[in-house]
Amino acid sequence: MVRTALITGASSGIGAEFGRQLAARGMDLVLVARDRAALSTLAIALHDEHGVEVEVLSADLLVPRQRDRIVRRLTDPEQPIDMLVNNAGFGLPLQFERNDVEDEVRHLELHVEVPMRLTHAALGPMLQRGSGRIVNVASVAGFIPRATYGACKGWLIAFSRWANGKYSGRGVTVTAVCPGYTHTNYHERMGLAPGAEGVPGWMWLDVRDVVGEALRDVARGRGVSIPSLRYKALVALSRVAPPGLAARIGERGRPSAGAGRTAIG
Ligand code: NAP
Repeated sequence: MVRTALITGASSGIGAEFGRQLAARGMDLVLVARDRAALSTLAIALHDEHGVEVEVLSADLLVPRQRDRIVRRLTDPEQPIDMLVNNAGFGLPLQFERNDVEDEVRHLELHVEVPMRLTHAALGPMLQRGSGRIVNVASVAGFIPRATYGACKGWLIAFSRWANGKYSGRGVTVTAVCPGYTHTNYHERMGLAPGAEGVPGWMWLDVRDVVGEALRDVARGRGVSIPSLRYKALVALSRVAPPGLAARIGERGRPSAGAGRTAIG
C-alpha cells in the first residue's frame, strides 16, 4: 500500500495540488522546494485538515549538496518513500539562441538530470520492497516541437514509458503526466500577465482536474497520462498534423526573449 509520498516543487501549482489530493487520501507527505515558508504553511494546513504527517525539506534541487539531501531521504531504509512525484520545473522564453546558455543548462538539469537522479535513488528501495509509484510531471509540449522545454519533456516521457515497461512487472510503476496549459504560478513566474499568453481560454485546465486524472492513471499503472479529452485529442492530431503547423502551435504561450524575466530563483 502506498503510504508516504515525496513531492518536488510542492510549494505551488501542480506539486501543491498533488500534496492536497494525496493527503486527502490519507498519505503522509515529504514536501520539497526552495520556499520553506510556503511549504510549512501547506504542511500545517494538510496536517490539520487530514491528520497526516507532513515533513518539509527545503532544498534547491540545482545545488548538488541540497539535492543529495533529497537523495538520502529517498533511500532512508527507516522511513520508506512509496511514491515519488518529480514535478519541480520552470520555464524559459522559447528563443533558444537568445537565452543565456547557463539558464538553459539549469533548465535541462532541473527537468532531466534531477528527475533521473531522484528516480534512480527511489527505484532501488522500491524494487527491493516490490512496490512503488514514480510520477514524472512532463507536458504535452513533449509531443510537439517546443524549444528545449519540449525536448526535455519528450525525454521524460520516453524515459517514463520505458521504465514503466521495464519495472512494472516488479511492482514499480512509472508514469509521465503530460498536462496542457494549467493555471498555476508557472507563467507568471516567467513575467507573463494572466491572459497575456495568446492562448485561448478553452485550452486552460484547472489544476485539480489535472492532478485528479493523473492520479487515476497512476493507480491504473499507465506509462503516460494526458489529462483531459481535449488534450488527448490535440496530441493525437499533432501526430498527423503537417510539421509546419505543429511548429507554429509550439511557439505559443511564452514571452519573446527579453520581454519577461525567466523564472529561475
Ligand atoms: P509553479 O506553480 O511555478 O511551480 C513550480 C514548482 O517548482 C514550485 O514549487 C517551485 O518551488 C519548484 N522549483 C522551481 N525551481 C526549483 C528548484 N531549483 N529547486 C526546487 N524546487 C524548484 O509551476 P507548475 O505549473 O506547478 O509546474 C510544475 C511542473 O508542471 C513543471 O515541471 C512544469 O514544467 C509542468 N507543467 C506545467 C504546465 C502549466 O501550464 N502550468 C503545463 C505542463 C507541465 P520554489 O520556487 O519554492 O523552489
